[in-house]
Amino acid sequence: MIAKVIVDISASEIDRVFDYIAIDDAVRGSRVLVPFGNRSIEGYVIDFAESSDVPPEKLKSIQSVLDDRPIVSEEFLALCDYMTARFHLRKIDVFRLFLPSKMRGGRIKSLEKTIVYVDPEYREIDPALFIKKSARSQLEVFQYLLDNECAEQSKLNAEFSAAAVRNLIARGVFAARRETVLRTPYKNIVQKDNTVVLTDEQRSAVDTVLTSDRPTLLFGVTGSGKTEVYLHCIDETLKSGKTAIMLVPEISLTPQVMRIFRSRFGDDVALLHSGLGDGERFDEWRRLLTGQARVAVGARSAIFAPLDNVGLIVIDEEHDTSYISESNPRYITREIAFFRAKYNGAKVVMGSATPSVESYYAAQNGEYALARLPNRVNKRKMPNIQTVNMCNEVKYGNSGVFSASLVTALDECLKSGGQAILFLNRRGYSSYVMCKKCGYVAKCEDCDVSLVYHKEEDLLKCHYCQRRYAMLDLCPQCKSPHIKQGFVGTERIVEQVNALFPSARVIRMDNDTTRTKDAHLKLLGEFASGKADVLVGTQMVAKGHDFANVTLVGIIDADMSLHFSDFRAVERTFQLITQVAGRAGREQKPGKVILQTYTPAHYVYKFATAYDYQGFYDKEINLLQATGFPPFTDILRVLISCENEQTALAATKFAVDEIRKLAAENSEKFVYFNAMRSPKKRIQTKYRMQALMRIVPNADDVRAAVYAIADRTAELYPQVACFTEINPNDLS
Ligand code: ADP
Ligand code: ZN
Ligand code: ZN
Repeated sequence: MIAKVIVDISASEIDRVFDYIAIDDAVRGSRVLVPFGNRSIEGYVIDFAESSDVPPEKLKSIQSVLDDRPIVSEEFLALCDYMTARFHLRKIDVFRLFLPSKMRGGRIKSLEKTIVYVDPEYREIDPALFIKKSARSQLEVFQYLLDNECAEQSKLNAEFSAAAVRNLIARGVFAARRETVLRTPYKNIVQKDNTVVLTDEQRSAVDTVLTSDRPTLLFGVTGSGKTEVYLHCIDETLKSGKTAIMLVPEISLTPQVMRIFRSRFGDDVALLHSGLGDGERFDEWRRLLTGQARVAVGARSAIFAPLDNVGLIVIDEEHDTSYISESNPRYITREIAFFRAKYNGAKVVMGSATPSVESYYAAQNGEYALARLPNRVNKRKMPNIQTVNMCNEVKYGNSGVFSASLVTALDECLKSGGQAILFLNRRGYSSYVMCKKCGYVAKCEDCDVSLVYHKEEDLLKCHYCQRRYAMLDLCPQCKSPHIKQGFVGTERIVEQVNALFPSARVIRMDNDTTRTKDAHLKLLGEFASGKADVLVGTQMVAKGHDFANVTLVGIIDADMSLHFSDFRAVERTFQLITQVAGRAGREQKPGKVILQTYTPAHYVYKFATAYDYQGFYDKEINLLQATGFPPFTDILRVLISCENEQTALAATKFAVDEIRKLAAENSEKFVYFNAMRSPKKRIQTKYRMQALMRIVPNADDVRAAVYAIADRTAELYPQVACFTEINPNDLS
């Protein structure tokens, strides 16, 4: 019998299946060790065949099977096929997603310990008969074990004498057995039967999720009790004998959240997240694999939890960008969830206070079911959002980062013993160009996205169509020379707070202060416990945290993400404002939000300050339809990179010529096609070029043809790296 094996090497660009002579224990999905060249490497058996094209004298045998059970289930073999076709990935890169990374190459294993106990035969006999009086430590450890039933050998070694323990085991007085020890995070949290009585709205949402034959979008304002809906759905799923997966953005995976799950589901829940040690992560994963745990809670990669019989998949904060993997292997978590749901006949629920326009569109046209939670559980009102026109501040001589209103509000907040969050949006930080006097922003005439200033050429460029414009000297609208480019950093804001309120204690949270593992949790914990008065931070302060004492939220430069050169820029701005505003006034004290902008007339502020999602959505979906962006098209990008510029150009030319032919044959499916240097022209000494397409949705044939062109390009030009993306977050 011949086994088809995918081997774990990264060298070749193209996936290959190798033939080996099968051995008894190897089944589909087994992880095996195979000879490869003059070494042994790991691989995965994906299939069997009667015969091989490899000449018999060259055919080698699988050396051994690595685990006590197949690691890749039939479901995951099918998922691998789906993912390679959908996202144009190599099989081996997909398999690597299926198990904890440290497990490959045997870098991590189950932790085992030796348990020692007195052999029953020796229990009733006087120890004087088999232990010499002079062997004091042997007598001591024997007596201890008689009294204690059993103990870990390492503990006995440390407390008594390793030689004595060894001696007694060797003589058969002590027996020993191996036991697997689980490294379980949060294991000391006890399970509580804290069942909350659902509100009618929540009850009806649970019913929709569990009875609908489509995925459900749970649209609930911040504080409306979405988590409780998820918990009940999971509970019902477990009761019906099935398993569940709960996904949350990495940044919201706080100890608070993990405690909620542990206390509700006890040992049934396994936590998968990057803050865990490798051993803990491996053991949690293994508990899922072996059926000891039936609920997986984690960030994006927990969608690959090794569970059988999945009955429910929850995606919390479904609009969050972290659900799209942006580096190889690139994939869209929601689509994996749909695959697993279909395979298992499972339910899917995706929740958000600010659903992505794409998901809401699917709910509107009936592709998803829609459940709404329009009210906060505790009936607290949403905080009032006050818009401040920063252009007026400039006019009246205030060129600082804080408006007069924000300074006053901060003063009041601090005097009354409240806490404040100052939010700085850094997403758009690649500098757009704006007039400080009238708020004019330079945009591409063809694409209606903001232009990006390229310093080295002193030019403005559109990152979507690559059209170039001269840099502005004067504002075309009001002729002011006050042209702003660039951004304010969090440090500047902290300085300003210190200068204005010397006694206020400030915590800064951004990429620099949260580099180390768990740093953001530590900072948030300090703020929550009142060790600081002001929290200054970027996106990471916007999400899901519950701070009882926050009465003021200041949004320093709301426009920042608005003018990001991305067709989802407005949507992201709306989401960020709503999320960050939701941090204020969650408990008794009412909250207030001050939103500073240079373009107060922009429709996004009108809708965001009124908490009018529907109004915002209606406007946005019309724009997307008119301009031909997702969900009305799929964006497809072929990216080519190479150290040698000429080779990159040649490969790009080849790919582009092929795509042009394809586009000519399928003109009805191509909405847009262009080739250009990538916005980030050179990364790590590699030149980057790209072909950018927008095609009608679900044109699987065109997509497959483009992937095939990318493969041919990579084959013809082995020096270039050529990869493809579908609907990426970021087109830089
Ligand atoms: P969301 O995730 O929608 O922002 P949460 O799930 O965090 O909202 O719920 C907000 C608060 O309301 C939490 O403190 C939660 O414990 C509480 N809560 C949720 N549902 C109920 C209920 N049915 N009865 C009482 N309290 C509830
Ligand atoms: Zn102007
Ligand atoms: Zn353009």
